[in-house]
Amino acid sequence: MNNRDRDRQYIWHPYTQMSGADHLCIVKGEGACIFDENGNKYIDVVSSWWTNLHGHAHPYIAQRIAAQAHQLEHLIFAGFTHPPAIELAERLLRHLPVNQEKLFFSDNGSTAVEVSLKMAIQYWRNKGEHRTKVIAFRNGYHGDTFGAMSIGERGIFNQPFHDLLFEVIFIDAPVPGKQAASLMQLQRAIAKNPSSIACFIFEPLVQGAGGMLMHDPDALNALISCCKEHGILTIADEVMTGFGRTGKFFASDYLLDKPDMFCLSKGLTGGFLPMAITSCTSEVFNAFLSKKDDAINKTFYHGHSYTANPLGCAAALASLDLMEATATREHIERIAGKHALFRELIAGDPKILDVRQCGTILAIELKTATGSSYNSSVRDTIYHFFLQRGIIMRPLGNTMYLMPPYCISDDDLDYIYRSIENFLKQ
Ligand SMILES: *Cc1c(COP(=O)(O)O)cnc(C)c1O
Repeated sequence: MNNRDRDRQYIWHPYTQMSGADHLCIVKGEGACIFDENGNKYIDVVSSWWTNLHGHAHPYIAQRIAAQAHQLEHLIFAGFTHPPAIELAERLLRHLPVNQEKLFFSDNGSTAVEVSLKMAIQYWRNKGEHRTKVIAFRNGYHGDTFGAMSIGERGIFNQPFHDLLFEVIFIDAPVPGKQAASLMQLQRAIAKNPSSIACFIFEPLVQGAGGMLMHDPDALNALISCCKEHGILTIADEVMTGFGRTGKFFASDYLLDKPDMFCLSKGLTGGFLPMAITSCTSEVFNAFLSKKDDAINKTFYHGHSYTANPLGCAAALASLDLMEATATREHIERIAGKHALFRELIAGDPKILDVRQCGTILAIELKTATGSSYNSSVRDTIYHFFLQRGIIMRPLGNTMYLMPPYCISDDDLDYIYRSIENFLKQ
């Protein structure tokens, strides 16, 4: 049996109807490209599900992980600590807004979100208030575990579980034209639920899986300050937007009012290893402290076997070194600049409903007869058109997007732009 047949025999892939599924076997990655077992090259325009920042198999990150593996590969993180976790916490806090004081480690974006929700709800309980309601955006995506599913848009992905998801107060995201409505819905939700809302969680500036929907910082800021006036905790899910994607280090760097908590994952290790972080203010952290009889009730009882895995920390530290390099900042500006030119070039195309950009993320929403749905046939047409041309483009329904590793070359970007033009022409 060849690799594709062996895969079919034994493996169940994520987000995949396995009947008739066929998976390309990739054996090598280098820079923004990956190579299949027949030597065919593909440009990874989606950064392997938005994780890769500096290119595949980056030698510097690989070397730092290897060095750490020879030193200390993993360690129970209760009762013990280790230098890579300490150094990563110190260095990440320098990039996060100054109100962020403590980091809590987990493994993936969904768990970072679960941790933030549990922290927010227990925060209120520890303070003697019963606040358990959550406000979230429509069209949001925060992960696939039960809490994360609950606060995300209800749809085809989580349909079998709808009866089991907890109730959430959904408001419109302040996308263009909905800024006023969004704020009004938030104010109404607060008025209707006095002293029972624990937190407001949101994807800042770009709602990724919802279709790369974008809103501006001022509109989001208005919502955050409204929450702050009412003592509601605000949680920025920067799992996708973090680490330079939006042009700044964090999307929240565009905001005047800083969120109380942050969820980080995807780009954290440069796309090398699964790791996540939930950060919070000292106000949140201090609510869990006690030396008295109630200490046991105030403790945050959450953890994962691989919490703060030293290899993940080493990868994250190496990726931070690269993030802080001038060359990376220049790449981010270069990509944003090229996207902007291309956006203007195609803006009037009759096949296009909307072109949006936020930093290195460019989204092109196509007109369709049926409206946008993840499984629309246009999605498959796009996917195969680009795959045949050596480009990995996984549209979200009728929305194509580019979110490349920062090291992508001008030539590769130009080739992708030209392929998009050819797609629009056909
Ligand atoms: C991908 C994503 C998640 C979930 O992260 P996983 O690592 O896939 O569990 C959560 N929030 C946002 C905004 C995401 O884009």
